[in-house]
Amino acid sequence: MSRITLLWFRRDLRLDDNPALIHALTTGAPIVPVYIHAPDEEAPWTPGAASRWWLHGSLLALDASLQRFGSRLWIARGDSLTELRRIVAATGATGVSWNRLYDPATRERDTHIKQALRSDGLRCESHRSTLLFEPWEIASQTRSASKTGQPYRVFSAFWRACVRELSGIRPDPAPESLPAGFAPVDGLTVDDLGLLPTIPWDQGLRATWTPGESAALARATAFLDARIGAYSVARDRPDAPGTSRLSPHLHFGEISPRRLLAMILDRFGDPAADPAESFVRELGWREFSYHLLYHFPRTPVEPLDPRFADFPWRTEGVAERLDAWQRGRTGIPLVDAGMRELWHTGWMHNRVRMVAASLLTKNLRLPWQVGARWFWDTLVDADLASNTQGWQWTAGCGADAAPYFRVFNPVRQGERFDPDGGYVRRWCPELARLPNQYIHQPWTAPPPILMAADIRLGCHYPLPIVDLATSRQEALAAWGTIKGNRPNPPVTEFE
Ligand SMILES: Cc1cc2nc3c(=O)[nH]c(=O)nc-3n(C[C@H](O)[C@H](O)[C@H](O)COP(=O)(O)OP(=O)(O)OC[C@H]3O[C@@H](n4cnc5c(N)ncnc54)[C@H](O)[C@@H]3O)c2cc1C
Repeated sequence: MSRITLLWFRRDLRLDDNPALIHALTTGAPIVPVYIHAPDEEAPWTPGAASRWWLHGSLLALDASLQRFGSRLWIARGDSLTELRRIVAATGATGVSWNRLYDPATRERDTHIKQALRSDGLRCESHRSTLLFEPWEIASQTRSASKTGQPYRVFSAFWRACVRELSGIRPDPAPESLPAGFAPVDGLTVDDLGLLPTIPWDQGLRATWTPGESAALARATAFLDARIGAYSVARDRPDAPGTSRLSPHLHFGEISPRRLLAMILDRFGDPAADPAESFVRELGWREFSYHLLYHFPRTPVEPLDPRFADFPWRTEGVAERLDAWQRGRTGIPLVDAGMRELWHTGWMHNRVRMVAASLLTKNLRLPWQVGARWFWDTLVDADLASNTQGWQWTAGCGADAAPYFRVFNPVRQGERFDPDGGYVRRWCPELARLPNQYIHQPWTAPPPILMAADIRLGCHYPLPIVDLATSRQEALAAWGTIKGNRPNPPVTEFE
């Protein structure tokens, strides 16, 4: 009897540490690697334009790797179950193997597909590959979570429980060969999927990124070789390349967090000690985001803190404010630099993501869901778990969130984390000639200084669309209407 297995690739676009692949290999029979393009099945979170751009490159890279093994990717488009059944019929496969996803839409779809294929008499296996820990493992296995086994809502407790298990993690190596290939009968090409933009707005993405497993491994190696030592301090500086920029590679599964952890263990021993600790902790935030999404699947649209369901978001002037924020024309340099970096490269530094999200949700008082949507369409690393968690954290309505009354001050943030203004000058070149003293608040510069720097505010660069101090007070007042009976917290500002 045929033991051919379909290996259904999704967001695990690699051969290394790929449990579904390892499982498929155990039969010794041919493997048929399959990718099915079915964006509607991820609705309402169908991949955005920047994600589609990345996916195109990542699929090409995966197909090239498979071809080196004498195999190739069978690409299809349409309803996933129908396509899987069609390829099963064409190949005589008796099993389907895949790695799990955790967002609500694909979870529901995959459960249905597993039941349907099993009722067709096929072997059907799903595996862990995206995370260090399954989202349910930590809550259910550790005593400190909660006596009732509830999910964690506080990162530090969640991460303490994870850290105990880190040293036991071992990735699977990439296979040295694949059993004889199986030529796709009627497969599509990656180009056929139409993932690239028809209007070529993607020059910045092309200049910044190389999708694919080899590029992911090279980036991880370069980061661990040269930059991890300075990471704990440099990670907050948007003006220098202090972070790994592995987020899109991790999102598309071009490198596994287990492989990253193993590379760290090999180099430094204990991942919970310097110099790796602060970097591994960020991988922990990724795990925590998935933990939250898994246990609270409504959070991409609903605040975890139910009080925020009644928050008085702004209703007038919404379109103009949102437009200025999206286009990097708020008149607040650090935010504008971040929004332009996002538009140009599909990525934004984490600190600037927090500042830009704080300006939108607090000073401009627009709903966090609106910002999350924009990020979803423009980020190459758009990830439902991390994006939801990042937005809810900043808006103050999520788990272990920055409380709403903490409002990032974008001027102070700029002065602290971009002290020489290099980041602002790069992305807002019209401000480049301003002295450091004014680079984060050009509206305070005396007219002769503006003239000497060739800037007319309101013409070359906008005046701030919002007064930071007044809007902060208004945000606090709005928060006062929903905060319930809790005692007044000290009114502080995020420095
Ligand atoms: C409003 C907002 C939206 C965000 N949206 C996303 C998103 O859609 N996709 C995404 O991957 N990250 C998101 N983040 C988290 C974070 O900004 C990015 O993961 C980080 O900037 C990626 O850069 P890096 O790879 O250089 O990170 P590094 O600092 O090198 O960190 C290593 C890895 O850890 C993970 N990580 C780091 N910080 C976080 C975090 N705060 N939360 C979850 N995981 C983290 C990422 O996978 C990252 O690649 C968001 C943060 C905020 C505040």
